[in-house]
Amino acid sequence: MIRELKTQRKEARWKTYDTWKRSCCCPDCPSYNECAGGGQELLYCVLGMSIRCIREDKHCTCRECPLYPLLGLTGKDFCMKGSEAAIRFERTVE
Ligand code: SF4
Ligand code: SF4
Repeated sequence: MIRELKTQRKEARWKTYDTWKRSCCCPDCPSYNECAGGGQELLYCVLGMSIRCIREDKHCTCRECPLYPLLGLTGKDFCMKGSEAAIRFERTVE
C-alpha cells in the first residue's frame, strides 16, 4: 500500500492521508492527550511521531485500528517511536 502511494504525486498522497486520518483511532487511546487533539495530530504510523505532545505511554490501541491490517503495520506506539517505516529501519540497525 505504501509503495503504491509513493508512486503518486504528493497532492494525491495528502488526499489519501486525509482519508486515512478519518479512520485513525488515536483519539480514543489513553496515551492521546489534549495537546495532540488541539494540534489535530493523527496517523502517526505513516506521518511519524508526535513532535511535542505525547510523551507518556499509557497503552497503545493501534492494533484495534482498521488501518493496522490495511497498511500491513507491525509496530506500535508510533506517536512516541516514529512511523512504521522508521521503526522497521531501526530494526535493521539493531
Ligand atoms: S494504526 Fe495507530 S497511528 Fe495508525 S492510524 Fe491507526 S490508530 Fe492512528
Ligand atoms: S500511536 Fe498508539 S499509543 Fe500513540 S496515540 Fe495512537 S494508538 Fe495511542
